[in-house]
Amino acid sequence: MSEPGITPSFQRTLHGDASRQQDTPSLTTLVSDLVAEARALPVSGKVANYIPALAEVDPNRVALAMATIDGQVVGAGEADHRFSIQSLSKIFGLTMAMNRVGDSLWKRVNMEPSGQSFNSIVQLEWEHGIPRNPFINAGAILVADVLNSHYSSSKQALLRFVRQLALCESIYADDKVYRSEKQTGNRNAALAYLMKSFGNIESDVTAALDHYFYQCALALSCKEMAKALSFLANRGVHPFSGQQVCSRRDAHRINAILSTSGMYNQSGEFAFTVGLPAKSGVGGGIVAIVPGYGVIAAYSPRLNDFGNSVQAMHMITRMAEELGLSVF
Ligand code: GLN
Repeated sequence: MSEPGITPSFQRTLHGDASRQQDTPSLTTLVSDLVAEARALPVSGKVANYIPALAEVDPNRVALAMATIDGQVVGAGEADHRFSIQSLSKIFGLTMAMNRVGDSLWKRVNMEPSGQSFNSIVQLEWEHGIPRNPFINAGAILVADVLNSHYSSSKQALLRFVRQLALCESIYADDKVYRSEKQTGNRNAALAYLMKSFGNIESDVTAALDHYFYQCALALSCKEMAKALSFLANRGVHPFSGQQVCSRRDAHRINAILSTSGMYNQSGEFAFTVGLPAKSGVGGGIVAIVPGYGVIAAYSPRLNDFGNSVQAMHMITRMAEELGLSVF
């Protein structure tokens, strides 16, 4: 197979920049260079320890991968190492719920940035149990409730969905992480009970939480994550399998909410500096969607104060800079 080309086709069209393809190094080289660059950064940030099992990961792991809509997958560093995807899973849950219940979902969860930390409680009280968006914890627990009440086994359905998207049957939810969060997830339980008190949780609170914790405990590698979400870069069609995962309209909508809310309280800065729909997780993963081109997945466990991986942010920022990827 030839070396993956580097210049996004839309960019060549937009900027008439065909010559760039010959001048720039291959995507494989760029990805390796960025991993080396991230490894050389001064140590900064802390591994999430409020979920005890997450505190045990090796903080020095660094990985970067990209899947393009023309079917290439490149990776560097520990791009095959499976990590706890945590909030990256909120994209899978949301896609399933949108497919299952359609626009009625938006009566129970909004699509506005929260301006608060990902697990904040105060706003939920003011706003009568309607979460600001599906990517903060309250919103994702609400989505978990929707799935739990619409599938006989929502955890199995989710696992099947993710395996299908990642084209890999061995994907699993890490039992240790699942149990660890179940035992210590009191703040998430508080969010769920508060929503229940407003009548916005239909099923049993413990069942909704159980789905949520299971979803967060899924373990995927950067290469698998990039492939699994490639449908969002390709108007809802999975470029590797040809499957229509969601409608074109919903792919646009998911990307829109990712742009405003996917990086929590750092979403504005991320849009400003990187300009891509993206999602972070406290396991240290970040995914960024490049519509019409592909998906970048980066991983390294040390987090900044917003709960976003320092090195993963660095690699995605640099990649967007090098390739001129901002959608704005
Ligand atoms: N499971 C984590 C939690 O609920 C997910 C948060 C995250 O990744 N930002 O706290």
